[in-house]
Amino acid sequence: MQTPLKIAVVGSGLVGSLLAIYLRKYNHTVHVFDRSPDIRKLSLSGRSINLAVSDRGWKALDYVGIGDAIRDIAIPMDKRAIHTDENVKFQYYGKDGEAIYSISRGVLNRRMIDLAEEAGAEFYFNTRIWDVTLATATLHIGEKEEGEWTPLKYDIVFGADGAFSRVRHRMQRQNMFNYQQNFLSTGYKELNIPANPDGTYKLNKNSLHIWPRGEYMLIALPNLDGSFTCTLFMPFEGQNSFEELTDVRSVENFFLKNFPDTINAIQNLTEDFFKNPTSSLVTMQCYPWTYHDKVALIGDACHAIVPFYGQGMNAGFEDISVLNEMIEKYGDDWLRVFSEYQISRKPNADAIAELSYRNFMEMSSDTASEKFLLQKEIEKHFSEKYPEKWMPLYSRVTFSHRPYSEALTIGDKQDQIMDQIMKIDNIENIWKTEEIEQKIIELLES
Ligand SMILES: Cc1cc2nc3c(=O)[nH]c(=O)nc-3n(C[C@H](O)[C@H](O)[C@H](O)COP(=O)(O)OP(=O)(O)OC[C@H]3O[C@@H](n4cnc5c(N)ncnc54)[C@H](O)[C@@H]3O)c2cc1C
Repeated sequence: MQTPLKIAVVGSGLVGSLLAIYLRKYNHTVHVFDRSPDIRKLSLSGRSINLAVSDRGWKALDYVGIGDAIRDIAIPMDKRAIHTDENVKFQYYGKDGEAIYSISRGVLNRRMIDLAEEAGAEFYFNTRIWDVTLATATLHIGEKEEGEWTPLKYDIVFGADGAFSRVRHRMQRQNMFNYQQNFLSTGYKELNIPANPDGTYKLNKNSLHIWPRGEYMLIALPNLDGSFTCTLFMPFEGQNSFEELTDVRSVENFFLKNFPDTINAIQNLTEDFFKNPTSSLVTMQCYPWTYHDKVALIGDACHAIVPFYGQGMNAGFEDISVLNEMIEKYGDDWLRVFSEYQISRKPNADAIAELSYRNFMEMSSDTASEKFLLQKEIEKHFSEKYPEKWMPLYSRVTFSHRPYSEALTIGDKQDQIMDQIMKIDNIENIWKTEEIEQKIIELLES
């Protein structure tokens, strides 16, 4: 147990609201601040991407007993539906019964805030934090950056204020604080496939749909109301880029040429295209994540990653699981709690950043290749037969709680092995043979 303290959480996003629930479990007084209005009172259209929740996320949600409340608003996707020029191929993500879960970020965030309030956390919306005095865990709030600020003193402050964290901004001015951020030259835009008039889905409901086209791709995730939220990922500039799509005709022609099977499905294509913002994607890494026993960063505030592994929120939720483990171990010794938390999480945050960055190519190009799909079949077949010898990288990241850093290292070794296997003559016909199995085992042991 812990001595109840007065704790502030900056940010009522997914990580901030779940953290509030965890902190209430220890009877702390929890105040959550957000610069935005209460998301429960806003319309979500055009601005709420869908997220995939996977095992790491579920673990953190189940631990505080809210997993089932969230499962009620999520849709299992057990496979990729890969839309090539000619047809649709299905690639299962894992073993029977394994799935990732599609959920609207906005709907999830609203539910999480409700649950955090029920747990006793107090929310202050439209309240922007301008600065933090690290040594005394004091927040500074106010109407304007140039105006007068009011100091609010706490025992501990958590910065769950996202990729452009103001709390981190203050920590960056400390000696020995390392920081780097890289923007992708690829951006994204949300589009929508509405339900059929009778409420049914226009595409297979339990799939994450991908239209892989190399430098760009479209994906679609199902919603509860029969619609799909689509995301177009595309370079900002150059050939096949957002820069080229400047008017109704260019957008229509682009979709007709490259995603012809979506033309009838995305009904308000050009309207949505010009109404919805084009957003950027950033990887941000920093260290340390904590300041003595007073301030800690969590979620995107300390590790923003690109979304191609569907792990940003899951990793943020896993931060909370690890923080909680440290609280259970070290009780009131917050200095130790913070120190062990950041030591444990940093290598894993770096690993999932790297894996996410690499996965863009897998999603946008490799999934269109027969050879890649065969490689994944071989891995799946081998791992079903020898589960103790091989867990595919995707499963290790998505359907396990093993550290991300381990997934990265083992995944690299598996890639080297599969490179050799795929070079074997006539592999497409002999991949299920004893000979290939023995070859993989031999390479694993070498
Ligand atoms: C296109 C896309 C797809 C994604 N898909 C997935 C996916 O499939 N699976 C997955 O796990 N993750 C996914 N992610 C990542 C996921 O969205 C983030 O990792 C997650 O939202 C991070 O949550 P957070 O609470 O740390 O930060 P945020 O959600 O950014 O919340 C931060 C909060 O802090 C508030 N705030 C900021 N500054 C201040 C301030 N100065 N004062 C007060 N409040 C402030 C903001 O208003 C906001 O409410 C995706 C991301 C993108 C962009």
